[in-house]
Amino acid sequence: MNKLGLYIHIPFCRQKCRYCAFYSSRPRPQDISRYVKAVVRQLDSYDEDLQDYHIDTVYFGGGTPSLLSEGDMAQLMDAIRRYPLSEHAEITCECNPDSATENKLLSYASLGINRISIGMQSGQQDELRALGRLHTHEKTAACVAACKQAGIENISLDLLLSIPHQTPDSLMDSLQKAVDLHPAHLSVYGLKIEEKTPFFLDPPPMPDEDTEWEAYQNTFAFLESMGYNQYEISNAAKPGFESRHNNKYWKRDETLGLGPAAHSFFKGRRFYQEADTAAFMQGNKNIVQEPPLTARDILEETVMLGLRLKEGVDVTPLSPSPQTISFLEQLEKEAYCTYHKGVLSLTRKGFFLSNTIITSLLNLI
Ligand code: SF4
Repeated sequence: MNKLGLYIHIPFCRQKCRYCAFYSSRPRPQDISRYVKAVVRQLDSYDEDLQDYHIDTVYFGGGTPSLLSEGDMAQLMDAIRRYPLSEHAEITCECNPDSATENKLLSYASLGINRISIGMQSGQQDELRALGRLHTHEKTAACVAACKQAGIENISLDLLLSIPHQTPDSLMDSLQKAVDLHPAHLSVYGLKIEEKTPFFLDPPPMPDEDTEWEAYQNTFAFLESMGYNQYEISNAAKPGFESRHNNKYWKRDETLGLGPAAHSFFKGRRFYQEADTAAFMQGNKNIVQEPPLTARDILEETVMLGLRLKEGVDVTPLSPSPQTISFLEQLEKEAYCTYHKGVLSLTRKGFFLSNTIITSLLNLI
């Protein structure tokens, strides 16, 4: 049977963070329970297709999935369990420290959720405030403790680089605070100013590229010294705790997304649900099919996604031309990659410049 990753988007947040371009809005009373019913309807609409699959990862992302009450989450998990769900499935829920209460986490754990990804972002109050986050570091620490109390040890923390007011010292302090909470996994992303966000209209001062590189390099060198392996551009984990669900995206495995703005790669096609929560709750399908993938699309996806991973990509099937090989050898000489027995993998320095490197490489093949 084929394996499948199920993604469920929860498009609600208490308040919009100043940098956030994810699809979410503040829910009105009753929105969440109506929304949960719409997700169950959408899942059931795939009833026949799902019989060919074994769901081995589930990911509740957002938005803020931890706004779901115990009862709402139970409805979703009951619906998912009507389909073939692997006994050892990785079931992740993104949580915000301000809404993931002890009782909720206990209940989520009893429903089978076994991985929690917490939006810590920073350990500094002034930085959290500048981002428009509602929580404090004490809340993050309490959330981690509540997960452990509920028996969930597979905890991931999200952190941000290039936050307004962040200095090399405050970054190291945040990283130390994060590591002191003993998460199994950390995701560290560079802040980007995205269109249609408050930061886009009123941009904060941003560091130059050298400062960004220093922060990126120091972050992952520190995490490595603490026993976390950087297995992807922005992710590091203790051995065996790499995100199984996100690995599906990087390896082009099949995933089915439910809810507005959720993307799918299912039965050879890419498609997504239009970002319109009201229409979704009314039962409008609004699925947008991407054009069928050509051989070239598949090649580009394989290279672009595979090079995000430290293990890299086998480029032998691309039959690299002498020009491509000399480009790769030059990159290797400058320590941007390793290229060995046809497998190309980026170094940390290469990860930092991955967009430029991948674009140049794709122009050559
Ligand atoms: S909580 Fe997360 S999804 Fe919601 S606005 Fe903030 S960053 Fe965006």
